[in-house]
Amino acid sequence: MNAPNDPGGKSGQPDSRPSIFTSGEGDTPAVHITVLRSILLPPATAPRSSMCSTIAPVTTFTQSFTRRAAAFSAKDSAKLGYPLAALEQENRRVRRVDPSKVRAQGCRGPKVAVGVYVGTLAENNRRQTMIHKFDAIIVGAGQAGPGLAGRLAEAGMTVALVERKLFGGTCVNTGCTPTKTLVASAYAAYLARRAGDYGVSLGSTVTVDMKKVKVRQDTVVRNSREGLEAWLTSLRNCTIYRGHARLESASQVRVGNDLLTAERIFLNVGGRANVPDLPGIDQVTYLTNSSLLQLQILPRHLVIVGGSYVGLEFAQIYRRFGSEVTVVEMADRLVKREDPEVSAGAQEILEAEGIQIRLDAECVRFAASGQDVRVYVNCRDGEPEILGSHVLLAVGRRPNTDDLGLETAGVEIDERGYIVVDDELRTSAPGIWALGDCNGKGAFTHTAYNDFEIVAANLLDQDRRRVSDRIPAYALFTDPPLGRVGLTEVEAKAAGKRLLVGFRPMTEVRRAVEKGETRGFMKILVDAESRLILGAAILGTGGDEAIHGILDIMYAKAPYTTLQRAVHIHPTVSELIPTMLGELKSPAAVGTRADV
Ligand SMILES: Cc1cc2nc3c(=O)[nH]c(=O)nc-3n(C[C@H](O)[C@H](O)[C@H](O)COP(=O)(O)OP(=O)(O)OC[C@H]3O[C@@H](n4cnc5c(N)ncnc54)[C@H](O)[C@@H]3O)c2cc1C
Repeated sequence: MNAPNDPGGKSGQPDSRPSIFTSGEGDTPAVHITVLRSILLPPATAPRSSMCSTIAPVTTFTQSFTRRAAAFSAKDSAKLGYPLAALEQENRRVRRVDPSKVRAQGCRGPKVAVGVYVGTLAENNRRQTMIHKFDAIIVGAGQAGPGLAGRLAEAGMTVALVERKLFGGTCVNTGCTPTKTLVASAYAAYLARRAGDYGVSLGSTVTVDMKKVKVRQDTVVRNSREGLEAWLTSLRNCTIYRGHARLESASQVRVGNDLLTAERIFLNVGGRANVPDLPGIDQVTYLTNSSLLQLQILPRHLVIVGGSYVGLEFAQIYRRFGSEVTVVEMADRLVKREDPEVSAGAQEILEAEGIQIRLDAECVRFAASGQDVRVYVNCRDGEPEILGSHVLLAVGRRPNTDDLGLETAGVEIDERGYIVVDDELRTSAPGIWALGDCNGKGAFTHTAYNDFEIVAANLLDQDRRRVSDRIPAYALFTDPPLGRVGLTEVEAKAAGKRLLVGFRPMTEVRRAVEKGETRGFMKILVDAESRLILGAAILGTGGDEAIHGILDIMYAKAPYTTLQRAVHIHPTVSELIPTMLGELKSPAAVGTRADV
């Protein structure tokens, strides 16, 4: 299944026959026809409608994980010189499905699919194996794989990049990008409702058109995905394979009927929503981050199980759109990894917007109730059950390592399924690296991308970059957001550090007052002996941006006084960071609540 840009040379003969398979990651498996797509993929400038004809996902089969399906047009088939009837004959057990059921999602042009065929994986595997040799194989086109493919190909290596579903992975398709477009829509609704506070009058009611919100989300996502895909398919020396990759040895990867071999294999397989085996979960319909992003309606009452980063972003988004929202958290506070002030601050912000928070929910169970779902909780306060129209599970992620053939290649995983790697991201199998969320060293786009930088620097630049050089940094994109770097106070105290703490409520930040966004605070931790900054949290307007000034000083390994003496721009949130550093006190004097 060779793409048009196949360098030929080491990768063997192109397979000109159509191959059928689906990918089943997460809860919305997509359908691809690899040969059709790689042969017919139009130039990046072609109208989107012509592209859609070859990649239309088949919504009819989104519930099916076991079947293999494909949709294509008679026109495409004729171009290939491979008539539909021949395909039907070859896959003897295929079933023809009513073409009117086929919907070419996201296409502006006319619907072109005229047939849908469903076969089995066994049918597909029966076909002859083709062997292709490369210098490097990359599994997964998420946040590390594409960059690495670019660098390796540029260095003259022949590269195979395998993606089983959507280019860009979680971040682009079901994570950062769609959620942040929703955060923006939700912020617009929130600000519109508050317009009067600013002397602006907008009329009586603010309404949110969920279909338009979704169109905006999908457009931003599609542009990002297609841009990446167009770049990857145009790369010299890089061959794209579409399908599920599985290791057959430490140097072999199978993708359908293609057996790829290389001395170097890079795994960038990411993760998916964790679905814990909670009582009654199999009796009800639930949503994950992926399926919630497909909704075009406003849930009447969204119950979110999980009060951490993903859950809280969705909670505020849907509350601002107009849903009733309840967050059910098993711990005794929200975002438990953060310091208690942060948990309390986030709770206060969300409750002020009308979000119900139920903590200490240790016995969560579910039951269907007509169209609704009963969520039973065992909390300190409130009713023992919540009746929701929709339930979102936001209880962590799990790595996509269970169907990768890791055991056959001798790649070690830990008890949670994460691939064990060293400081340069090498696995226990020589010649195999693991990058991104699947190695458990980070859970963010920037950490996955940094993994690519580390591997490329070590392999190509003789620059010994390591994971342990990385300072933890991330944001919770509620409004106001939480920007975080380094240690929490709890962690710093557990590490035995003698601390100085700076603290400032956002009510004492002029820019926040001027913007009318004074919720939250800033907090910074300094090592009293080394005078280095150990960590910081900015829960407040602009906190996701302002935190970078602190992060950069930490990377520079400069004492806090360097930042304290910097002259920042007025009026900004950042300008109060030097001021806060000039008022450092002991944790007891500040009155922080972090106990080890
Ligand atoms: C709701 C949500 C919001 C988020 N928001 C943010 C945010 O704002 N900022 C942030 O930094 N991070 C955010 N994240 C986390 C971020 O999305 C991930 O950390 C990031 O995508 C990890 O990148 P990755 O390359 O490791 O994996 P992924 O992006 O998951 O990519 C892995 C790719 O591998 C493919 N694949 C898997 N197995 C196989 C196989 N066997 N064969 C072929 N292909 C395979 C998958 O289809 C996928 O395309 C969010 C996550 C979620 C769920």
